[in-house]
Amino acid sequence: MSQSFLDHVSSTLADIDQQGLTKPERIIVSRQGADIKVRRPDGRVTDAINFCANNYLGLAGDERIARAAQAATEQWGGGLSSVRFICGTQAIHKDLEQAIARYTGHEDSILFAACFDANGAVFEPLFGEEDAIISDSLNHASIIDGVRLCKAKRYRYANSDMNDLETQLKTARADKARHIIIVTDGVFSMDGYIAKLPEITALANKYDALVMVDDCHATGHIGAGGRGTAALHQVEGRIDILTGTFGKTLGGSMGGFIAARREVIALLRQRARPYLFSNALAPAICGASLEAIRIAQSEEGDKLRAQLQANTKRFREGMQAAGFEVLPGVSPIVPVMLGDARLAQQLAAQLLDAGIYVTGFSFPVVPRGLARIRTQLSAAHSFAHVDKAIAAFTQAYQQVKAA
Ligand SMILES: *Cc1c(COP(=O)(O)O)cnc(C)c1O
Repeated sequence: MSQSFLDHVSSTLADIDQQGLTKPERIIVSRQGADIKVRRPDGRVTDAINFCANNYLGLAGDERIARAAQAATEQWGGGLSSVRFICGTQAIHKDLEQAIARYTGHEDSILFAACFDANGAVFEPLFGEEDAIISDSLNHASIIDGVRLCKAKRYRYANSDMNDLETQLKTARADKARHIIIVTDGVFSMDGYIAKLPEITALANKYDALVMVDDCHATGHIGAGGRGTAALHQVEGRIDILTGTFGKTLGGSMGGFIAARREVIALLRQRARPYLFSNALAPAICGASLEAIRIAQSEEGDKLRAQLQANTKRFREGMQAAGFEVLPGVSPIVPVMLGDARLAQQLAAQLLDAGIYVTGFSFPVVPRGLARIRTQLSAAHSFAHVDKAIAAFTQAYQQVKAA
């Protein structure tokens, strides 16, 4: 490799570091869960309470999920060594597609290696240059990339700004778009805000537009039965295309899906490139995800969601009472706003010393100057966990400010 290229890479890394934007990866040496073990840079292992996983129902380290993955591996093997259409479809893949479609209230679904792939796959086969995609400005990176891969005209509205959305709809209609689709995250992952689906679907009706929701941070724990943001806002049946993940609430392994009408899914099976040219999901992932869907739909799921809500409320109120600025809302994503990237990093490091595992978020994951510690609650947390976190935040903040 040429020295000039390596120098270029090294100087970019140095720039990132200088701005306090390096994202270190700490190593977990236990299962995922509320109580984890974290290996420190000096090699010591610390017990910590985890407040930064997307493990909303606490299923990621659940013994039943691990066993379901094992059982599926035992029955179906390690993997398929094939894409789906050649020789990579087993009964368990069809079972998972049907289970997630039924759970989310859609006719059919199609699996991907990740929701990143699902969002990369969904636009290009369905929308051409005659069409318009109207996307929320805070949509996930994978939606932005997916839209880029497609020839449709692009329109963007300011986050959850319904006046702006209507302006964009009018513009797209004036531009003579054939089909228009409004695309939004169900829950915006960096802020925890929930999309205004009643208004979005009403505008979609008014301007004859389709609606796509990415419910990665919702499926399994938001809304009645954990059926997502459409269930929360009682607009089930009005969402035309849903994307989601098995890598968060639904077991925490990995894998994504698109759910929609039968014909839409059929076309995606023929044309979606990340589906046609990528390996089938490992049976272990299918088994784990099926078990997670079963639990999420059960009475136990209702109990877990109630616990999650109670934990979230306690944490939000406690942090505000302690003087922290948290973004408002009801989702279990509770961003603690700090502004400065270095402050967020230092506070996260100090909190680990106090046994609270959180991560500072800075540019490019969030806008410059809006660095934060994004905390996430879990049904696996107890009130004691929550209270310990609030006390630790308070003390660590004073220590970092005094230093
Ligand atoms: C996490 C997330 C994704 C990516 O999901 P993966 O399955 O991890 O690739 C996509 N969209 C949103 C909104 C997410 O939060």
